[in-house]
Amino acid sequence: MDAVTDSALDTSIRVNGKRLWDSLMTMAEIGATLKGGVCRLALTDLDREGRDLIVSWAKEAGCTVKVDQMGNVFMRRARRNADAAPVVTDSHADSQPTGGRFDGIYGILGGIEVIRSLNDRGIETEHPVEVVIWTNEEGSRFAPAIVASGVFAGEFMLDYGLSRKNVNGKTISEELKRIGYAGEEPCGSRKLHAMFELHIEQGPILEAENMTIGVVTDAQRQCWYVTGQEAHAGPTPMPRRRDALLGASRVVELLVGVLPNLPGFLHTAFPAVFPNIPAFFNTLYTYAWFVGLALASIVYGAWMKMGKRPTARIASA
Ligand SMILES: [Zn+2]
Repeated sequence: MDAVTDSALDTSIRVNGKRLWDSLMTMAEIGATLKGGVCRLALTDLDREGRDLIVSWAKEAGCTVKVDQMGNVFMRRARRNADAAPVVTDSHADSQPTGGRFDGIYGILGGIEVIRSLNDRGIETEHPVEVVIWTNEEGSRFAPAIVASGVFAGEFMLDYGLSRKNVNGKTISEELKRIGYAGEEPCGSRKLHAMFELHIEQGPILEAENMTIGVVTDAQRQCWYVTGQEAHAGPTPMPRRRDALLGASRVVELLVGVLPNLPGFLHTAFPAVFPNIPAFFNTLYTYAWFVGLALASIVYGAWMKMGKRPTARIASA
């Protein structure tokens, strides 16, 4: 076997591009959408199917597979130095509801392909090489996003991560057990030597700049809360009303006017209103939150354009 050392690093090694492409296309059949993308929401049956396929490929490539308490999957190729921490490449196997076929999964299958290529050449590495699937990175089914890698990194407590609920009240813990990915390894207990993540860009910037690759330098997620006050819509005069959604909309409109002037800003959003009473609208909406800005502004803009801002919310305003 060849040994890769600092003094004899062979930079001519290439992965098998066709094999990687074929794996990506096979994977894209799981949860395929009509427009050529995928819908594999976290911890659904389709997510399980995708995970099972990746794990089967990892095992075929000789990896050992471990799952932690948040359902994060660690697929490890053995190393020469028994005590060394792994060099990791990682990403997400779940998708947005209208996700692309490369988003996230490219990072995982790219890692699997690296392992396959090392195997092809019989290369032994100093450190283990590990590919990681993080649970619910996208956050489309359970808020917040990146919750499982967040628990691993110590940003969130384990109980917090496991108790996140989807809109139907199902928790991450319940769904992990249901799909067979509730592992026992303590989350965050692993040591990492180095970490790389290969990720496609879903925006237009690289293409516009005629570049093939870039490095992410900043990322930030913010949750904005606007709190209103309950009251009966009928007897409450307009000047005394405190509609959280109206307040949130004004903040969005103001900030959207500012953000495009700041270089490098990408923004996205998930607005929510609580309690969003659908029946006889006699109570003011008291609570609105949104992550980022773009979607909220689109929703607000659409209401304005259609000339029908929701009557309940206006009546409550
Ligand atoms: Zn992604």
